[in-house]
Amino acid sequence: MTTDSLPSTARSEALFARARAVTPGGVNSPVRAFRSVGGTPRFIREAHGAHLTDADGTRYLDYIGSWGPMILGHDHPAVREAVASALAGGTSFGAPGEREVQLAEAVTHITGVDRVRFVNSGTEATMSALRLARGFTGRKYILKFRGNYHGHADGLLVEAGSGLMTNAEGALGQAAPSSAGVPQEYAALTLVSEYNDPAALDALMAGRGREIAAVIFEPVVGNAGVLIPTPEFLAALHRVRDHGALLIADEVMTGFRLSLNGATGLLGLTPDLTCWGKIIGGGLPVGAYGGRADVMDFVSPQGPVYQAGTLSGNPLAMAAGLATLEVLEASPALYGRLEAYTTALADGLRSAAREAGVPLSVNHIGSMLTAFHQDAPDGSIRTYADAARSDTAAFARWFQAMLGQGIYWAPSQFESIFVSGAHTDHDLNATLDAARAAYAGRG
Ligand code: PLP
Repeated sequence: MTTDSLPSTARSEALFARARAVTPGGVNSPVRAFRSVGGTPRFIREAHGAHLTDADGTRYLDYIGSWGPMILGHDHPAVREAVASALAGGTSFGAPGEREVQLAEAVTHITGVDRVRFVNSGTEATMSALRLARGFTGRKYILKFRGNYHGHADGLLVEAGSGLMTNAEGALGQAAPSSAGVPQEYAALTLVSEYNDPAALDALMAGRGREIAAVIFEPVVGNAGVLIPTPEFLAALHRVRDHGALLIADEVMTGFRLSLNGATGLLGLTPDLTCWGKIIGGGLPVGAYGGRADVMDFVSPQGPVYQAGTLSGNPLAMAAGLATLEVLEASPALYGRLEAYTTALADGLRSAAREAGVPLSVNHIGSMLTAFHQDAPDGSIRTYADAARSDTAAFARWFQAMLGQGIYWAPSQFESIFVSGAHTDHDLNATLDAARAAYAGRG
């Protein structure tokens, strides 16, 4: 494709200019600004199935899926109808309603947790779960892993992955904040270990374990690109409970995606608390945390740990989440289809890159995939440091070549892409044709 034949981005450019005048960086979440890949972020007008249409009328095959929630594809009829029906009954009550009970029943039934509390984002879920863990254990330290992202609460913006991956690495143990505005005193309560390093985790727990309220982790990392945990690391995670720390699985990205019961179900994990977001709201703002009754009953008004929300349990959001989970429960074959598509995508990308002599290492699991632009054997990228060796300039060139051919990949080397139930074999072939052209420098 030559530059002359590229679709116009004039309207997106004009909207971006207006947005920059009234919103920091022109966006409401940093990765949307295309900072690491350059060019004009596309302002999206509408989305249906596996496709986005931008303000200039250009249609893209979407691999972002709103960063995970849209596992059924955009504008799924069951979700649309459920939200429309809820809308007819009013948008917010500030009092309990039946849909909250129904979604809580669905989540407890699917995941096996005893109790669940709904909030409005993944950030709120992890922040609240950690407060609960501190309240329950009476301890003040938490432990996270380098390159794992758990939302933007102060104490979690420490070695926090994806958008923050340019920050310098510190030593394990005590680590520096990843953002201005986070006092060192807050960060001081967050200890950091290396993902997929069981010896480092065991050593840190042996030294500090009795001070640690909780270990929070992404059971499959999506926020340093996709990183898959080793069985040895999972075993070390389970051992943190020997020290009286709670184990908190952050399934905001993986929940209801890697299997109906998330990564937890797929990998045989038994956390004390689990956090959800994204799919649980079916594209509307919902987060949740849940777990054992004895821990969850520490949350107010049952217990002494305060947590609240004006719009928590919002009827529209509950309706979207419930409709999504109902479709997922009724579609047992879906997860196999998503995985088959993603595996074929991974294989196709590898051979396209190999034919063109482009270094590429693909990690994938279920419907999550990252194509790291670096010369590492497939499956060998396991840590934040491994991921960080990728050639971000090569990725940016490839991203633009794909976008120019109508394929909307995640605009950062250190993100997962998400396959949805709306992606078809035709979409797969179109993606691989575009990838071959992009790697061959023809994109
Ligand atoms: N935890 C994980 C694993 C995430 O991927 C994210 C967001 O991408 C969050 C937490 C924060 O969720 P939210 O953006 O809804 O606040």
